[in-house]
Amino acid sequence: MPEFNQITPEIRAKLEKIVGKGNVSSLKEDLDKHAIDESPLEPHPPTLVVTPANTQEVQRVLRLANAELIPVTPQGCRTGLSGASHPIHGGIALSLEGMNSIIEIDEDNLMATVEPGVLINDFHEATEKLGLYYPPDPGQESGSIGGNISTNAGGMRAMKYGVTRDFVNGLEVVLTSGEVIQVGGKNVKDSTGYSLIDLIIGSEGTLGVVTKAILRLIPQPKFTSLIYAPFTSTMDAVNAVREIIKQKIVPFGLEYMPQHAVLMAEKHLERKLPDNSHPAYLIVAVEANSKEELDRQLETAGEACIEMGAVDAYIADNAQRQSQIWEARKCLFDAYMATYMLDEADICIPRSMIPDYVERAEEIGEKHGVLLVPVGHAGDGNLHYFIIKKDETPEEDWDELMEAALSDLIDLSLEMGGTSSGEHGLGYTKRHYLEREVGPAQVELMKGIKATFDPNGILNPDKVWV
Ligand SMILES: Cc1cc2nc3c(=O)[nH]c(=O)nc-3n(C[C@H](O)[C@H](O)[C@H](O)COP(=O)(O)OP(=O)(O)OC[C@H]3O[C@@H](n4cnc5c(N)ncnc54)[C@H](O)[C@@H]3O)c2cc1C
Repeated sequence: MPEFNQITPEIRAKLEKIVGKGNVSSLKEDLDKHAIDESPLEPHPPTLVVTPANTQEVQRVLRLANAELIPVTPQGCRTGLSGASHPIHGGIALSLEGMNSIIEIDEDNLMATVEPGVLINDFHEATEKLGLYYPPDPGQESGSIGGNISTNAGGMRAMKYGVTRDFVNGLEVVLTSGEVIQVGGKNVKDSTGYSLIDLIIGSEGTLGVVTKAILRLIPQPKFTSLIYAPFTSTMDAVNAVREIIKQKIVPFGLEYMPQHAVLMAEKHLERKLPDNSHPAYLIVAVEANSKEELDRQLETAGEACIEMGAVDAYIADNAQRQSQIWEARKCLFDAYMATYMLDEADICIPRSMIPDYVERAEEIGEKHGVLLVPVGHAGDGNLHYFIIKKDETPEEDWDELMEAALSDLIDLSLEMGGTSSGEHGLGYTKRHYLEREVGPAQVELMKGIKATFDPNGILNPDKVWV
């Protein structure tokens, strides 16, 4: 790890000249805000928060920081769940929130060009007004496109459409040298050289700063519907996931919620869901361009649920009912955080392994005396396990217990051919799991790539690996 320098008054003055005095802050409230993300990691305040307005300013900030050996942590909206945007070594928190224009929605090419600070929710609204669709839908609607790209975010519609990577066609990236590179563009095909764009996506702000993105769009499907299915046992519900997939329909979302999560959502939202009295639930969401095709998918999925032990298959056939169910699913993180001390495992396994995984994970919970609540993207094999402190566990024992349970959950995933992070990234809190998963040869390759992009190691240091 390089020795970093402190930000002197002279360096601060230079930064103020680049971005304007009002866009460099050392106010305590700003440092506190930029010291955290949504993970339980303790805060790491930067020395300064710097908010550039355009690519040229990012270039000049990086060139200066590189020359002065000041660490720089790119930040979107800090909704990440693995400490990836924590300024571990202080220095500059480079907030991309101010670069938030949707530059162009190009209907001729079905591509949009955006700045990194655009919120995913705003982008969905803007494209859907034109009958266009950007499928990636990470649960946190106030995350930024830059953050989504840098974590290769997944979300609620990955089962049918894939993840952020599948919709990023071009990027403008500023390197620590201050050089700006354009990778990809609006071409549908590209077999030229190494795919640097794929290296940048998911690199958690360690290789360069994304200052523009060209995103692929598709026509918005005309009809959407959703099934909310209560099951008489958790194993029936997870087995139904496999059965639905076998029916050769592809729901865009297939989410799992145990009763514990349904009750938490109801308490948090202060309203009832269609049913809360069964051990487990599936949300099966489908969309199509004709009513007939939609009905066919609903019927097939509904029958598969009933055959596998669902007591009913409630259909939410209008937008309001659907959004009420989605709201319940999407509020779970906030609902649990408001009540419990917890962390979240983000393992992903081949989907056929889900029943075995859920069964064996129960033993892990018992072994470590923690409450494990699996929720989420079952259709992707990407179950989020809330690892929850029991009331009787002393707080001083919690970090160790939580890490031991997380470690076992990850080991179980690796044993089944899975991965330690399906969509959140390793950031700071899970970086020690990389080598366990990919082995030393791949970690060395990654370190070599990092050294090529960022020879002084100033960009988001101490992330992704140990
Ligand atoms: C309630 C809740 C639900 C969530 N649901 C999902 C989900 O379903 N799926 C999912 O994938 N994630 C989910 N997340 C995690 C989080 O929202 C995503 O990781 C999101 O992509 C982070 O975006 P952000 O703008 O907050 O990025 P930040 O947290 O600010 O940063 C994340 C990483 O990206 C880097 N970065 C940010 N902007 C840039 C840039 N312009 N250039 C280079 N690097 C950059 C940072 O350095 C950091 O490494 C959820 C989080 C919460 C709190």
